[in-house]
Amino acid sequence: MKKSMCITYEVEDALYVNVTNKCSNRCTFCIRNNGDSAYGSDSLWLEREPTVTEIVDSILSRDVDSYSEIVFCGYGEPSVRLRDARAAALAVKEKHPTVKIRINTNGQSDLILGYDTAPFYKDAFDSVSISLNTPDPKRYVQICRPAFGINTHRAIIDFARRVKAYVPKVAFSVVRETLTEEEITECQKIADSVGVTLRIRAYITPDNLSS
Ligand code: SF4
Repeated sequence: MKKSMCITYEVEDALYVNVTNKCSNRCTFCIRNNGDSAYGSDSLWLEREPTVTEIVDSILSRDVDSYSEIVFCGYGEPSVRLRDARAAALAVKEKHPTVKIRINTNGQSDLILGYDTAPFYKDAFDSVSISLNTPDPKRYVQICRPAFGINTHRAIIDFARRVKAYVPKVAFSVVRETLTEEEITECQKIADSVGVTLRIRAYITPDNLSS
């Protein structure tokens, strides 16, 4: 496996931030299964986790205000390092108050960190995109293989309900190619019951990395 210290990388008109390779899921469809590199980087596998200072420096070395948004995403689950991601986001916002910052998460930060994490998203992130993936808890276990088992899906929905009190925009995301129309309808019902948007995105492959 090739490794590098690729902390930030561009995806279309956004700047993505890679803070960890750790994750509480082992999704069957994870982009990491496709290889070491993505989005023009040598590798998104990190030699080591960058410090908060390194994350901030990497972001600030770019023309921050030229991007549509900054997205904490990368080759792992960014909320594993929620406090560090928050600190980095707040530092960037201090220099660039109008920049929009999103975090793409599997929605498991409460389970990973063991406390109510929703308040820690406040002010640092303008939007939170949570991978729902399926309307069915059993199916979630099959396709995402979470470390926390069958209760994970319910915990993700609970997290979405709470974090929307702290963050202006919260969305569930699903991958169109992995779901039937009926399943997408069920995901929409869950999103509606929580009061968040449902974002239906295309499956990411080496051939459509910018989707
Ligand atoms: S949650 Fe994201 S990073 Fe983690 S295994 Fe699934 S797709 Fe990969």
